[in-house]
Amino acid sequence: MTNELTLSKSKINTFIECPRKFKYRYIEEITEEANKYMLLGTEVHGIAEEIAGELIDGNKIEDVFLNLEYDEELEDHIKGLEKFFKDIYSNGYEIFSVEEYIVDEEINMNGIVDIAIKNKKNNELILFDYKTGKPRNISKYKLELCIYKILLESKYPNLNVVSAGIYFTSSAAYRIANFGYHGQDYFKLQSKEDIDDSDFDYVDTVVDNLYETIDRNYFKKEKGFLCRYCFYKDMCDGDFG
Ligand code: SF4
Repeated sequence: MTNELTLSKSKINTFIECPRKFKYRYIEEITEEANKYMLLGTEVHGIAEEIAGELIDGNKIEDVFLNLEYDEELEDHIKGLEKFFKDIYSNGYEIFSVEEYIVDEEINMNGIVDIAIKNKKNNELILFDYKTGKPRNISKYKLELCIYKILLESKYPNLNVVSAGIYFTSSAAYRIANFGYHGQDYFKLQSKEDIDDSDFDYVDTVVDNLYETIDRNYFKKEKGFLCRYCFYKDMCDGDFG
């Protein structure tokens, strides 16, 4: 059973949030209905992918945004994306990959990297994940950024992911952490935060714990205030296992 389950950032984060929720979603495969926040995320990611595709095809950034069609309620997100893509080009970067699905069979992990950008002068990459919610501290996201770095570097061993960040589209806010590389680069200067070996060790510890939990087949309930928003709440309340 252990080796059959390929892990991802979503699975690991769900396990950290609540092992019982992990069981319902990923072992019993009970699909959660998409809520309005999930739908918004999907829509904004889709538009960001469309914009990146147009830019890769050589279209001018001004034209891409001028011709973009979107719902009025997404205005703030689109403005945020316009700043993001202008920052990429005005600071000597180019788009390297977009919504790339990567599988690392050796560590049994997969994931989709929203966007990776490459410094035109060297082999340095910075990866970003888009979030549509309110900006939060980078510490909440370090685990997933570690996973994305591992995946990208396993696929592109000649390239070096020097920083990783979250871009909050509605507020055009960056939260970036550097993997020990600092300097005068625009994106690296957005942050004094680092991701170091202890963060990668934490990923290993959680993954070990997750596989042990699957082997024991006991997924404890992590009762807390998040239960009130949990899709599985009714099922969980009646589940005395
Ligand atoms: S209701 Fe709470 S304890 Fe139950 S699965 Fe959801 S988050 Fe976990």
